[in-house]
Amino acid sequence: MGNDFQIEKLADEFGQYVLYRKCESCLNERRNTPHLLAKLCGWDAKLTDVVRRLRCSICGQKKCAARAVPMTPPRGYKSH
Ligand SMILES: [Zn+2]
Repeated sequence: MGNDFQIEKLADEFGQYVLYRKCESCLNERRNTPHLLAKLCGWDAKLTDVVRRLRCSICGQKKCAARAVPMTPPRGYKSH
């Protein structure tokens, strides 16, 4: 499945995506919703900027890499 899903700002795709944040130091991976980050930084914040500020809760390094994955729409969902 494509790499055409690009999140630049947290508000992109109306926040309907899931963030996988992987620490490049200890390889711990966490799953987040953008809502959590938007609470901290606002919906206009750039994803790359937000991720750069995050600290790994395990090893304390700021070496997180994030990828955004589209939320699977519920069965029968139709966009308008
Ligand atoms: Zn870590």
